[in-house]
Amino acid sequence: MKGRVIITLDFDLAIGKVNLNEIVYQLKEIRNPLMLTILRKILETYDDLISERLSQTKIYPSKYRGGLGRHIRKGDPKEHFCRGRKIRKRGYRMEPRQFSTVFGEVKIPIRVAECVKCGGRYSPLLSALKIGRYARREVNFEHEVIESVIDTNYRRLIDGRSIDISLGGIHNIVVGSDIDTLLQEPVSVEGFSAFMADGTGVKQYKGRKGELRAVIGITKSGRLEPLGCFTNTPWTEVEQTIKERIKEKEQYNIPFVYDGEPGLDDFLANIAESQRCTWHGPRGLYHALWEDGIKKKESQPETDTIKQLIGIELPEGDYEILKEEDREQVKTRYEKSKAEIKELVQTFYNKGYRHGASYLEKLSDRIFTNVELWLKTGVIAPKTTSLLERLFRELGRRLKKIAWGWSDMGATNISKMIMIRQYSREKWEQYWRNKLGIKGYFNIHIESVEIS
Ligand SMILES: [Zn+2]
Repeated sequence: MKGRVIITLDFDLAIGKVNLNEIVYQLKEIRNPLMLTILRKILETYDDLISERLSQTKIYPSKYRGGLGRHIRKGDPKEHFCRGRKIRKRGYRMEPRQFSTVFGEVKIPIRVAECVKCGGRYSPLLSALKIGRYARREVNFEHEVIESVIDTNYRRLIDGRSIDISLGGIHNIVVGSDIDTLLQEPVSVEGFSAFMADGTGVKQYKGRKGELRAVIGITKSGRLEPLGCFTNTPWTEVEQTIKERIKEKEQYNIPFVYDGEPGLDDFLANIAESQRCTWHGPRGLYHALWEDGIKKKESQPETDTIKQLIGIELPEGDYEILKEEDREQVKTRYEKSKAEIKELVQTFYNKGYRHGASYLEKLSDRIFTNVELWLKTGVIAPKTTSLLERLFRELGRRLKKIAWGWSDMGATNISKMIMIRQYSREKWEQYWRNKLGIKGYFNIHIESVEIS
């Protein structure tokens, strides 16, 4: 159907007094109400046209009713669709249907049609627009709400448009989202130089403390790739979900980097090699020694020593053209460090530092994975969880503002959204394009603007 929108705008301009800002300001003020008025008019016209085609079956052959008049057969307990496509108009519902749109709230009068075949009553417009029985907003609006929630400025979105949506309402949008579908496709270890996982606390319903957990991959080019996000889920279950996404089932020469959380000791052990974060190592040792009653002043030299021993820098550049002696140098330093840590463990035991000794012993098993992999393959893989921590800082900053008191599902979904939007922008945009279903079925352009 072709149509034209004819707009008449009145204006009153004080000659010799008005400035540019005021003109722009007033135009900005009518932008949303103007769009809402146009939207309402287009929908009303569409509604008239649909009911015309459905009621005048003598004038319009059946091909004109394609895509129109779908409704559930009256009294069908299985809720099958009726094949009847002829209606009688039965006026309008008492209450117009209200929708939240990006332009603000719109009220649409709802025409009622009665199916001649089954006698069921329905709204041909809502069915043509593919609006469900309970939908109260359109997807552009949902998109904007979520974008502004992630940017933590949703108040500004709501205030300007007299839209009534609370944090609870936003929670419902987030919980009902199918963002999960984006973190399901298979991934290949080939593209990664490391995996990482960690958790952080979130405040949930009634001040209950929950734990948000995330798993990421670091691509060979150093980019963060979100793999999954979970709230109050045991690590074994998290691992199972991630494993199901990874194509390969055999061992690869890439590290799984973590900060020493016991539940992660054997995470993804079938495909990756555990690597303790070299940044967290010395800090963890300080805590372990503190548990043994060692004050910071006394433990400082020990943690400094550890920092020294594990801080093995790997020569950058092409492994193949490295001189044998460079490789030998790393190897010597690695062996020396390992031996010294072993001695230190013994010293700690001798001094009665039980916590410190066992911490260091466990640490030493997995702190040189990075070096061992390099000696074996020449690949320099990440050895700290710093990229993952940056992600958690980004999540934390936003969750603190919006997601306190949220359910597990709400916290999980909003975290996934933040991750994907931040690190997989292309996927994020595609996800919304799909949801909106933009297919070129409606086009509108400005033909001319004249002033009389
Ligand atoms: Zn029917």
